[in-house]
Amino acid sequence: MPEVPATTFKLAERVERIGVSATLAVLNEAEKLKAQGVDVVDFGPGEPDFPTPEPIKQAAIQALHDNFTKYTPTPGIPELRQAICDWHARELATAYQPGECLVTVGGKHGVFNAVSALIGRGDDVLLPVPYWVSFPEIVNYCGGRVVPVATEEANGFRLTAAAVERAWTEATKLVIVNSPCNPSGAVVDREEFARIFDLCRRRGALLLSDECYSHFVYDGAPFSVASLPEAKPHLVVIGSLSKTFSMTGWRLGYALAPPPLVQAMIRLQSHSTSNPTSIAQKAGVAALRGPMDSVRAMLAEYARRRARIIAGLNAIPNLRCAEPHGAFYAYPNVGGWMRARGVKTAAEVAKRLLDEVHVVVVPGEAFGTAEHLRLSYATSMERIEEGLRRLTRFFS
Ligand code: PLP
Repeated sequence: MPEVPATTFKLAERVERIGVSATLAVLNEAEKLKAQGVDVVDFGPGEPDFPTPEPIKQAAIQALHDNFTKYTPTPGIPELRQAICDWHARELATAYQPGECLVTVGGKHGVFNAVSALIGRGDDVLLPVPYWVSFPEIVNYCGGRVVPVATEEANGFRLTAAAVERAWTEATKLVIVNSPCNPSGAVVDREEFARIFDLCRRRGALLLSDECYSHFVYDGAPFSVASLPEAKPHLVVIGSLSKTFSMTGWRLGYALAPPPLVQAMIRLQSHSTSNPTSIAQKAGVAALRGPMDSVRAMLAEYARRRARIIAGLNAIPNLRCAEPHGAFYAYPNVGGWMRARGVKTAAEVAKRLLDEVHVVVVPGEAFGTAEHLRLSYATSMERIEEGLRRLTRFFS
């Protein structure tokens, strides 16, 4: 074996501040088991289990045939920026112009661009707990400080303006709200959202509203805080085609924001990705201009699965699960079982579930809580039934 030379470089401090996504770590373990032929029930994936609808795929194929395969403008092709604004107006009652819109390489990239353009040393970012894994990491990477905002499990983890106000600091520059929420499925209702927004506006902080799951709500209609009067100057909306149109691999998202912030994000994007993929952008136009029937069909199926998995989880002794009102995740509390067994971390519960009954879940530590597991029900009813059988065996 040739000798491997000792590494001589030191990583940048900013990258030492972040860890690999905990979601990915669990999924890697599961992949190893699957590769050995083990029958794994996978509640891990944060993506729809439906194919991308055919007309969207055809638009990308057509783009290839048309040789639409070169660089595009950095903020996205004009017809897609217009299509995003039109779709948002139609679906969420907002009034954005293309100059207020930036197309990004997925919603995550939109969050990354926005936080990078806004946050640096000395800035505080309020973040409701539980949170999507990438929010704190992106804030840390940018040198900002994450200030957690408490939510109550008994209240379905719903964020309140009072909790945001309690967490407020002198240095608060940005408040992140993700409704519907990954991982809890909590939805902030219109009135509470208006109160949270008003607090941000009065105190001079921006609100970043991650609306990637906007169309997966089980009671009432999709809502964007951008539809509130006078909201736009104080708001960054992050959206994504990933979940809505089952397009996770296409990497297409967007940010809607005041023009100076859009310009700053364009500067940043021009030196990183240059532009989102050309053919994906054409597919995006087809998705946003097309009928919403596939979205409605997915939502109906998720609703069926949600009812089954929540009932199933709550029937397991030592487990309780708040009802999610949006997205496609269940976030059960396993604290009772952990205490009874002397198990200290949700990560250990997740590891044992994988090893002993071959069920993949994401431990709550990834989302900032110590006693929960995240289960995605973007998987078939048959796998949900099998998973519930195994969970019942494990926890009983
Ligand atoms: N925001 C939230 C809350 C998410 O859960 C995700 C993906 O899981 C994203 C943003 C990013 O999605 P994408 O980058 O695929 O658009």
